[in-house]
Amino acid sequence: MIGEEFRGVSVAGRARFQHLQALEDAIAYRRARVAAPCADCGQVPGGGRCDDHACDLDLIAAYELTARAIIAGLSCQLAAQRAGIARQRAASGGFRRGGA
Ligand SMILES: [Zn+2]
Repeated sequence: MIGEEFRGVSVAGRARFQHLQALEDAIAYRRARVAAPCADCGQVPGGGRCDDHACDLDLIAAYELTARAIIAGLSCQLAAQRAGIARQRAASGGFRRGGA
């Protein structure tokens, strides 16, 4: 869910949030698959996972890495926006209340 604190994020930023939401949904889907009982996983020596569920685990790891990279990028974007706003306020004589 996108919070109010992210209002004012650029169109590119919103696309990244949508990408994050899709990744979150995909991770939830894959986790549910991994959590389901599987007769094939029971056949793997050493307690490993069957090919399908090993693939699910690999995809979860990849999706999480991608999500972390997107979040890092959004954090940088928000920090840059805040710095830009602070510079504009400083250049215009500081923060004014009442919108005047
Ligand atoms: Zn399995």
